[in-house]
Amino acid sequence: METPLIDFEKPTRHLKKQVSFLVVDDEQRAREGLIRLLQRNWSDITEAEDGDQAIGLIQKRKFNLIILDLNMPGKTGDQVLAFIRDKKITTPVIVISGESSINKVTEALRLGAYDIFRKPYNFDELEHAIRNALDKSRIEDEKSQIQSRLKHSEQLHRYMVDNSPDLIYILDLAGKFTFVNDSVTKLLGYEKSDLMGKHYSEFLAEEDRLKAEYVFNERRRESRSNRNIELRLKCNPLDPVRPFEVTTCPIELNSMGIYSADSKDTKIVGTYQGTYGVARDISSRKEAEKLITYQAYHDLLTKLPNRAMLYDRLDLAIKQAERTGEVLIIMFLDLDRFKLINDSFGHVVGDQLLIEVAERLKAETRTGDTLARLGGDEFMLLLPQPTSREQAQRVALKLITSMQQPFFLKNKEVYVNVSVGISVFPDDSDDINTLVKNADMAMYEVKSSGKNGYIFYNDKLEHAAAEKISIESGLRNAIKNDELEMFYQPQIDLKTEQIVGVEALLRWNHPKLGLRSPNYFITHAEESRIIDQLSEWVLNRVAVDLFSDKTFQESPIKVSVNLSATDIRQKEFPENLVTYIEDLHIKPSRLEIEITENMFMSDIQACIYKLQVLSNKGISIAIDDFGTGFSSLNYLRELPVHTVKIDYSFVSEIEHSKKGAALVAAIVGMAQGLGINVIAEGVESSIQSEYLESLGCHIMQGFLFGRPVAVDDFLSAVTRQESSSSSLSTT
Ligand code: C2E
Ligand code: MG
Ligand code: MG
Repeated sequence: METPLIDFEKPTRHLKKQVSFLVVDDEQRAREGLIRLLQRNWSDITEAEDGDQAIGLIQKRKFNLIILDLNMPGKTGDQVLAFIRDKKITTPVIVISGESSINKVTEALRLGAYDIFRKPYNFDELEHAIRNALDKSRIEDEKSQIQSRLKHSEQLHRYMVDNSPDLIYILDLAGKFTFVNDSVTKLLGYEKSDLMGKHYSEFLAEEDRLKAEYVFNERRRESRSNRNIELRLKCNPLDPVRPFEVTTCPIELNSMGIYSADSKDTKIVGTYQGTYGVARDISSRKEAEKLITYQAYHDLLTKLPNRAMLYDRLDLAIKQAERTGEVLIIMFLDLDRFKLINDSFGHVVGDQLLIEVAERLKAETRTGDTLARLGGDEFMLLLPQPTSREQAQRVALKLITSMQQPFFLKNKEVYVNVSVGISVFPDDSDDINTLVKNADMAMYEVKSSGKNGYIFYNDKLEHAAAEKISIESGLRNAIKNDELEMFYQPQIDLKTEQIVGVEALLRWNHPKLGLRSPNYFITHAEESRIIDQLSEWVLNRVAVDLFSDKTFQESPIKVSVNLSATDIRQKEFPENLVTYIEDLHIKPSRLEIEITENMFMSDIQACIYKLQVLSNKGISIAIDDFGTGFSSLNYLRELPVHTVKIDYSFVSEIEHSKKGAALVAAIVGMAQGLGINVIAEGVESSIQSEYLESLGCHIMQGFLFGRPVAVDDFLSAVTRQESSSSSLSTT
């Protein structure tokens, strides 16, 4: 399509231009006489002495008026007139001729002469005719300019209409299309002819027909007549160029009644002619809106509803339950040990697991239930009424059971369990936040009492939560109030019957409850980050208690100190520890740190590096509670481990089950194979110690050899041992 280039601002130029004349006459005197007369009013006058010269000049430039003689040698005036007519030149020609024959005159007029004067002529009359001719010519010029501008303007508007990204249409009184622009093909896949003469309703989605009726029949004018509504238009499913997946397309419609101006009715001003309108394709806006709403209410990983949607539904469900007096169940679900899986397999695998978990959980719910992901490994399930505690119990069991089959991640079997805390409306609270908090509290209770199960919220939980707070605040004061104590338990080498090591065990002398084991408070200390201060305190105390004692200092006995995962996770952990014990004058070779294997699960590479730093400095590393953790034996080859400590739970099984004994034998065998020291923990009977010795594990720790005791008692034993060994060596 050609681009219209119209300069609407341009003024009509010829009005300002000087008027130009061409005077054609073979008689020089007559020509000059006429020119002189013309020069009184006009200055741009060109002369030609015959027809040929005149034609040459007319071809070269445009004159406003030509005054032409008829009888001339060569080309005659008639021939010049014929030339002008044939070339469709619009310049008016006034003929001045000596001819008086009527035929000649008629011929000249027929050929298009504007007027004819017979020589001799009256110049005033001629001048009058000239002015008339010029006026007429100017009016003609203006008219043709207006026409050409109109033509261009129409082209421009047609261009704009056809190239509009919107669908532009006109409907007649009956609601039939009388005009549609080219966009119809692009937008709906129809040819224009498919729509022309058809009723608009044929192209509307069925559900939108009623809604459209009013707008398409819009009869009012001015601002009130504009109607914007959303409608869906059917697309042509057979469109060969652009096949649509959907068969309707939402459009925003703006329609306005058309009136004809010739109406005599003064009230309505014009008669209603039909409807003009513009339909805009808002598919992408609709898509974006849909996506935004979806994102606001869904968890993008699992596609489950998110917290916002859950709270929305919960709010509604509570209001309904309040009216009907029925029961509502909320379950808080948290995966057990998800963090370990995430840390050891990476976030991508962790995410995959969450997706699969969500699918399994979802499969156990019914339509109407809301299963939402709150974030991380936390999910929440809302069972709307009618329901009961028994029903909740059944659902919780189903959810827990659904996790029993392994998940396959990176071709490995992975097991995850879920802990479920349940709160009930209205028994536990009638407030959303409290209900959620109570379910959360119940879930934590499941976690602390062994995980993988469900518990209903009850008042005792509140008590446990309060206890947690009291332990944490008590611990914060424990150091300041001097309530911490260190106990020491010897590690004996049965070959020499000598104390070869000692484990430093922390105690809290609680002002009300008396001496408490770390089992009572370590987890709380870790959660509240008080552990950092505790670990420092322990190392400090060990330095003061043991290394300030000369006998101990000179003995070869190693001290084992328990560290928590939180300690090791600190970025500068190995460097800080090395500096700290240097300041305390503890020789690295006399120190062994005990860590549990679960600590390695979080970022094994960082662990290897950190432990290597310590090992290079001469500090020994022992794996505590070996065999109880959640990891493969593989890491033993990678980590700089010096000692494994067989857990009490295995040692205590030795005399009760063959399997237990075999397990202990396997651990000892494996450690020996890798050249790692083994210490048996919690040895309480001679049957156990004899069995362990028979396996080649001869370093033991347990009540059989000595309970954890206060420093003075321990140092007395060391003194006894060292003096007897020195007296032995001197004898
Ligand atoms: P653990 O490192 O495995 O320590 C051995 C635990 O077994 C100690 O409990 C000890 O008293 C107990 N035990 C020793 N021999 C026997 C026995 O023959 N029979 C029985 N039934 N138990 C025996 P304790 O002192 O209550 O410590 C519990 C846990 O607390 C420790 O387990 C250790 O993981 C942690 N812990 C102790 N002190 C500290 C510390 O200073 N810092 C950190 N982070 N954790 C500590
Ligand atoms: Mg230990
Ligand atoms: Mg242990």
